[in-house]
This record gives sequence, C-alpha cells and structure tokens, in this order.
Amino acid sequence: MKKTIVLALVALLIVVSASAFVFAAKTVNIGCVIYKFDDTFMTAVRNNISAAAKEKGAKVDIVDAQNSQATCNDKVDLFITKKMNAMAINPVDRSACGVIIDKAKKANIPLVLFNREPFKEDIAKWNKVYYVGAIAAESGTMMGKLVVDYWKSHPEADKNKDGVLQYVMLKGEPGHQDAELRTEYSIKAVKDAGIKVDKLAEDTAMWDRVKGQEKMAAFLAANGDKIEAVFANNDDMALGAIEALKAAGYFKDGKYMPVASVDATAPALQALQDGTLLGTVLNDAKNQGRATLNLSYVLARGQKPTKANVGYEIVEGKYVWVPYKPITKANIKDAL
Ligand code: BGC
Ligand code: CA
Repeated sequence: MKKTIVLALVALLIVVSASAFVFAAKTVNIGCVIYKFDDTFMTAVRNNISAAAKEKGAKVDIVDAQNSQATCNDKVDLFITKKMNAMAINPVDRSACGVIIDKAKKANIPLVLFNREPFKEDIAKWNKVYYVGAIAAESGTMMGKLVVDYWKSHPEADKNKDGVLQYVMLKGEPGHQDAELRTEYSIKAVKDAGIKVDKLAEDTAMWDRVKGQEKMAAFLAANGDKIEAVFANNDDMALGAIEALKAAGYFKDGKYMPVASVDATAPALQALQDGTLLGTVLNDAKNQGRATLNLSYVLARGQKPTKANVGYEIVEGKYVWVPYKPITKANIKDAL
C-alpha cells in the first residue's frame, strides 16, 4: 500500500515537472526596437507585431529608439543581457545593421531586421539574420504610373502646354532605401512612359507631415503655378503638402494638383475619398508586422523558417518580401 502511494507520488511529480518544463520551453521572449514610435507607418507595423504576438502567445517587448541609432544599439545590448530568444529590429540608420548583426551573432540570438534594409554584405555576415520588407523600387514605379495615368487622361494637366511635366519631389530620409528608390523609380516610370520631365524642386521632408507642409509651401512660393505634379515618398509628407496646397487655394474652384505617394495609411485613404490625394501605393503594414513577428517566433523556438511555419515565403534563405499595390479612389477597399 505504502509503496503504491510513493510510486503514485513519484509519477505525479514527474508529470508536474515535465509539464512545467514544457510550459517554460514554450514561453517565447522577443525583443523589438522601432526606430521611432512617432511615425505613422511604423505605428501600424508595431500594432500588427503586437497583435500577431498575442495570437501566438509570445511575449514581445517593443521599445522606441527615438530616432537615435545609439539608443537602438543600447536597446539591443539590453535585450542580449535579458537573453531574449530572438530580436526584431527596425534600425534608425541602415548602415548600422552590420554592428547590430555582430552583436546578435556574438550572443547567438537570431535577428530579424525590418523596414530599413541592411546592405547585402551585412546580411551575408551570419545565417541567423533575416530581413522583412518590400521591394522599394516597385513602389516608386507604381507611384510614377499613377501620375502617368492621370497625365495621359487629363490634357489640362500640362498647365503651360509645353508637353513637359513640371514636378516637385518630397523625399523621405536620405539614405533610406525607400527614399532613394522611390525618388528614382517614380520619375523613371514617367520617362519610360514617354513623358518629358522637368524637376522644379526636390527636398527631404524626412517622412514627416509638418515638414512636408513647410517644404511644399516653400516650393509654391518659389514656383507658383508652374508646378504640375507633386511626388511624395510617403503619405505623411503628401498630406502635409496637401495642407500647403489648400492654403494656396488648391482643391477648390476647379484648381487641382495631382499628388501621389506611398503607404495607404488611414488618413491617406480619407484624402483619396476627399479627392485631394490622387493616388498612393499600399505599403502593407499588416503583413510586414505579421511576417516580422512570425519569423522571429519561429527563430526564437530554434526552428528553421519555412513558408509552412512562417506563413510567408523565405527568399534566398534571408528575405520576406511583402508586395505593394497601387491604390486610387477606385480600388480603395483593397487597402482597407
Ligand atoms: C514608409 C514611411 C516610413 C518609413 C520609416 C517607409 O517604408 O513608407 O512612411 O516613415 O518607412 O522607415
Ligand atoms: Ca508643362
């Protein structure tokens, strides 16, 4: 009798400790840095990372680098000290990815970089570093085509009737792949469509709405009615530009300006509805956030990422590319 009780207790102990072990092994801790919380698009990505973590029952600690690469590096060091199972990092400066990769590699903590693309030579440094993002050049091409379609179907768009498109460009942060390539490829698409262009002005507004408004006001002051189209590397800058255009009398009494951008944020979709924004390109925050979390989760559990366990194709064993999509008032529901 005594023996059976002892045996039963031992069995119970084994079961309890085994399940405790399983439970402990299942708790996944992911450290995440966002380059700046005060960024409309990255806020949407961040919210989707949190939502995906909740679904998986993973713990994700998301912190703000406040637009400082030094702060970002400090946060990475902290996550390493805390022995996170994986890190998901949106760097401030993409040229600093090499340093982050070295730190992660030394600590052997798998790393997912996102939104700010590491250089090829950096991502090649280690087999446990990945990148989640979108193919920047494609968004530029799509943005350019939105303006091409408008120009070809609206002869009045050529205000001075010289057969040339006079435009201004609001650029994102210099050095950011999305700023450089959207600027280049949007204009390439216009030229490839056989349209001659004349750049009246280009300046960076650092992805920021208020700066977009200020720069656009300056462009208008210098060029007046010569401007025939506005390209902005993201919606926030475009929305700022629209404010400046409104202040200059646009969007009423038949005075119009085509403005094209990228992201398809909620306020930009509203501007499409209002008829102020001509078009935008869906930069898919939902899938970028989910892919980042799913990939980090699989890596945190020591698994090899595949399309089956991440839910997104892993290209060249390193990249998850989330597709872009052009959005106008006609297909607005595709972005909702
Ligand atoms: C987005 C911008 C955002 C930037 C942040 C880009 O992909 O289009 O809106 O400010 O990422 O890095
Ligand atoms: Ca013209």
